[in-house]
Amino acid sequence: MSRNIDIFDVIIIGGGPAGCMAAIEAAGRGRRVILLEKNNEIGRKLLLTGNKRGNITNLSPLEDFIPKYRNGMFLRNGFARFFNSDLISFFETNGLRTKVERGKRVYPESENAGDVAETLKALLARNRVQVNLRTPVTSVLRRKDFFEIESLKGSFRGGKAVICCGGASFPETGSTGDGYAWAAALGHTVLEPMPALCGIVTEEWHVRKLQGVALKNIDIRAEIEGRKIAGEFGEIIFTHYGISGPAALNLSREISENMGKGTIKIIINLKPGLDSPTLDARLLRELDQNPKKQLKNLFKSLLPLSLISPFLKHVKVFEEKQACNVTREERQRILEGLTGFSFTVRETRSFADSMVTRGGVSTKEINPQTMESRIVPGLYFAGEIIDVDGKTGGYNLQAAFTTGYIAGISV
Ligand SMILES: Cc1cc2nc3c(=O)[nH]c(=O)nc-3n(C[C@H](O)[C@H](O)[C@H](O)COP(=O)(O)OP(=O)(O)OC[C@H]3O[C@@H](n4cnc5c(N)ncnc54)[C@H](O)[C@@H]3O)c2cc1C
Repeated sequence: MSRNIDIFDVIIIGGGPAGCMAAIEAAGRGRRVILLEKNNEIGRKLLLTGNKRGNITNLSPLEDFIPKYRNGMFLRNGFARFFNSDLISFFETNGLRTKVERGKRVYPESENAGDVAETLKALLARNRVQVNLRTPVTSVLRRKDFFEIESLKGSFRGGKAVICCGGASFPETGSTGDGYAWAAALGHTVLEPMPALCGIVTEEWHVRKLQGVALKNIDIRAEIEGRKIAGEFGEIIFTHYGISGPAALNLSREISENMGKGTIKIIINLKPGLDSPTLDARLLRELDQNPKKQLKNLFKSLLPLSLISPFLKHVKVFEEKQACNVTREERQRILEGLTGFSFTVRETRSFADSMVTRGGVSTKEINPQTMESRIVPGLYFAGEIIDVDGKTGGYNLQAAFTTGYIAGISV
């Protein structure tokens, strides 16, 4: 005798920001919703965001938001209906006070990402979403009148299904890229997932000597054989493997995509505020006015202390040389080094160390007004599984919440 299986209106797969938002909105509109999450808690990745402080969005205006993403135009329609101010009032009206910091980044006032997760948890309960934890989904099947979702805890049936199981980054949080295979099996194009917002590994061994050196207000760009592929302004930090910090993380998004297409160079302009003639004049002045000074001392007015010795080695000028003995060629090398301190990229860090995933389900096959698949009616996608990724600063969580919201009001 076959058991009579319950059919839910909507099955949501994945309890990250996108899945929770989709579930809350769908249930708030009267749908009978079940959320399946493989972990024993929702929002494990959310807890790590913004150094555990939860940088949930950014207060930049819409026109500044769109270029921060790959496929940003896909989000335009969603942002018109649920943007940063809507997300902030969503949380504020549900008891989570927020504050704005440097770079217009928005955080919970408590500076605790756990409070964002707790707010979502309370709203799931208030809207009577059935949350099944410890339920890893293994496949998503389209039957004649419903979706059958198979999991290690049995099968679930739903009139509609929303896949929100995230990307492949930081797999320890549960986001192991499972949804890509389901989407492909259902006929979707999946653009190759790649690590993004991650550190950049350089070929130069001496970068290790710079470990811990942080540089602010610098220009950093990536080039393939002289052609610029991306550029950023801001802060970087040298690490034991290469370069990290916000500007480098942002650059990694384009570097990932261009790996294997030629030698990629990272070029850092340490003095972006000065053009070459002005910088050369300043250098000449410093050398002329301090003829007896050793370069390592003279450079204290030009570079952070910890950078001086590695920098002079990098440009092959003896650090103990007196200013009066610096040759024209050496001065030229110093000048080029100040505006083009360069490194060769070996690779980006792996998924294990990347904050987001570039690539995913093609935006061309998802209706941006509803998040419904253009290939499988009744199937929806939200969050990082979609081929959209943004820079640091709250853009990725806003994209997850917005697409989750749109899916939630559309199912
Ligand atoms: C360290 C770190 C810091 C970050 N900081 C920020 C920040 O400050 N601001 C910002 O905007 N973004 C930040 N991000 C990025 C942001 O966290 C993600 O873009 C966002 O969480 C994506 O939301 P999502 O709901 O699509 O996916 P996820 O948050 O990845 O959630 C997916 C959920 O699906 C579940 N799941 C996966 N597979 C299955 C399965 N087979 N069955 C059942 N459940 C499954 C997972 O367990 C997970 O709970 C950060 C990321 C990291 C790793």
